[in-house]
Amino acid sequence: MTLLDRAIVRLLPAVPKPVVQLFSERYIAGETLHEAERVVHRLNAKGKRATIDVLGEDVTNPEEAQAIVQAYVDALDSIAEQRLDSNISVKPTALGLDLAIELFHDNLEILVSRAQTYGTFVRIDMEDSSTTDDTLHTYRRLREEGHENVGVVLQSHLRRTYDDVRSLADLKPNVRLCKGIYVEPPSIAFTDDDAIRANFLRCLDALLEIGAYVGIATHDEWLIRESLERVESREGRYEFQMLLGVRERRATELVAEGHPLRVYVPYGRHWYQYSLRRLQENPAMAGTVARATVGRMLGRGG
Ligand SMILES: Cc1cc2nc3c(=O)[nH]c(=O)nc-3n(C[C@H](O)[C@H](O)[C@H](O)COP(=O)(O)OP(=O)(O)OC[C@H]3O[C@@H](n4cnc5c(N)ncnc54)[C@H](O)[C@@H]3O)c2cc1C
Repeated sequence: MTLLDRAIVRLLPAVPKPVVQLFSERYIAGETLHEAERVVHRLNAKGKRATIDVLGEDVTNPEEAQAIVQAYVDALDSIAEQRLDSNISVKPTALGLDLAIELFHDNLEILVSRAQTYGTFVRIDMEDSSTTDDTLHTYRRLREEGHENVGVVLQSHLRRTYDDVRSLADLKPNVRLCKGIYVEPPSIAFTDDDAIRANFLRCLDALLEIGAYVGIATHDEWLIRESLERVESREGRYEFQMLLGVRERRATELVAEGHPLRVYVPYGRHWYQYSLRRLQENPAMAGTVARATVGRMLGRGG
């Protein structure tokens, strides 16, 4: 991404919603569960696993959180009915974490228990650093309450993450490892690309060493290659993970080479925040969208 693009990308929240929607269609399965099911069927037919995300974050009352829980229950039911190879990914704030940690725990437990009856799995996405302690605490609590079918996410841009891996060791955790998308201050996060990558590999090594199951969630070719060397003799202990609409050809190659791969499939009416994040990290698209919009605003069309 050029410096100009990076600068323009910060203006993306000023881009009109219809423009964001147009450019972000590839990242979203649709607005309904039915559309998400269709996408998962298509992925499964190509040997790719899925994880379904009901879009929605920062709920402001327990009823909104309840509606999201219900949407996930519907998703779990239909995954089972249609025998889809998919689990679910949930955002702590969408389940009520900002309202009360107890509410988050209880809502999550409803989903983990339901998933357990179907033999499927719940991944707790990781949000910004203000939620990390509560998210890891709730993950540990559920595991100590006897739930095995739940996993968490760690972000390699956070300086604390290596210590978090060590402190989870006794649980033999199931961890999705990613770089981390939320903007964090340098006091707690690496901001340099090379440092984030180095920490990714350091944490991946540590996770493999403690016997964790690892979801290697990256589209970064260098990290994919480095990870491939590390998982060579770890069958059944890892999978690659990618986002819907990103590097699909590379995902297909990994599957053809015999590596398990899961695609993150978001759907729902609250597509805006998720779409902004995807456009902001797309090196080609962000600049194009932003220039088109600035051009419009300046009356130059395009
Ligand atoms: C399955 C999955 C789950 C995730 N869950 C979380 C989570 O719970 N919490 C969290 O903080 N973050 C999460 N992330 C996001 C992650 O933290 C990164 O922000 C994101 O994956 C981009 O980092 P990267 O490793 O792909 O490297 P990058 O350096 O950002 O990307 C590498 C290359 O991939 C391609 N690429 C990347 N993004 C795009 C895009 N949007 N459009 C087009 N091309 C693109 C480009 O070619 C780019 O050069 C998740 C990512 C994945 C894949």
